[in-house]
Amino acid sequence: MKILVVEDSRYSPASLQHYVEHFGATAVCAANGAAAIELYEQHRPDLILLDLTLPDMDGLALAGRIRAIENGGEWTPIIFLSSTGQDDDIEKGIAAGGDDYLLKPISEIVLGAKIRAMQRLVLMRASLLSLTRKLDAANQELTRISSIDNLTGIVNRRAFDEALSVEWRRARRHSNPVALLMCDIDYFKLYNATFGHQAGDKCLRQIAATISRHSERPSDIVARHGGETFAVILAETTIGGALMVAEKIQQGVRDLDLHHPASPTGQVTLSIGIASAAPGFDNPPDDLVLAAEKALYRAKHEGRDRVCRADAA
Ligand code: GH3
Ligand code: MG
Ligand code: MG
Repeated sequence: MKILVVEDSRYSPASLQHYVEHFGATAVCAANGAAAIELYEQHRPDLILLDLTLPDMDGLALAGRIRAIENGGEWTPIIFLSSTGQDDDIEKGIAAGGDDYLLKPISEIVLGAKIRAMQRLVLMRASLLSLTRKLDAANQELTRISSIDNLTGIVNRRAFDEALSVEWRRARRHSNPVALLMCDIDYFKLYNATFGHQAGDKCLRQIAATISRHSERPSDIVARHGGETFAVILAETTIGGALMVAEKIQQGVRDLDLHHPASPTGQVTLSIGIASAAPGFDNPPDDLVLAAEKALYRAKHEGRDRVCRADAA
């Protein structure tokens, strides 16, 4: 434990230092306010013993200066040394940011007891801080985990809903369009039936990676919307731009060349519905999802393995 002793030399600071060191603490001594601030910044002590009357500044003012230097969450206990012990002094000392006071002449026994009490507080505070840090890290990790789909590693439906609503509001502020792709694997039930569920899982992972690879902008968000349905949010993108991305994704999936004998094409393919809209105050993001889903339904109905765009509203 490091203790900053701020004591005018007229009152034997040597003995205070001696006491402090007698308790196994390290003493750093200042004889005036300016030196105290310098030493405080240099050493960041665990405790400050602070005389109320100093040659260059009032002890109360010095306490205020130190509190102002401390970082958020930092709190160095301050024990004032008072020669009067007047109620007024004590009240002002605590109000100025002090934690306790000692009456001069200082009793070694009382000083020792107070140092021990403050040491206990310092330790408790340190363990609380470390616990808070761990909690913060755990919370961040929890947020991350709760937005990720376990199987594919891309964001899940919950995070998709959140991201779309954030993007929708941003686009409204800037009068930008937002595009949405709904991509669904064709005949996936048959794929599972042919190769088994584990092979199906592997296929889902490959498709997720392929869609992600072809959604190149940092602002693009690829999510697992449901079982074998993936959604892509494209910020600042018109229907023309969305069509290009959808075609790239489709080509990427064809290039994977995943064997699917139960499908008419003999390959795993995607049907994609696309929609784009400029957010206003009366159209919720759900409308965009609905439009893309309707377009996807049409792509399925018209024979699958194709991209369909939503009807212009
Ligand atoms: P369509 O061409 O009309 O889309 O037909 P489909 O068979 O792909 O669609 P359907 O909705 O009938 O079947 C989806 C299948 O996806 C059924 C379900 O078991 C499978 N599925 C959903 N989630 C998972 C998963 O996490 N792993 C695996 N292996 N299969 C899944
Ligand atoms: Mg499907
Ligand atoms: Mg389906």
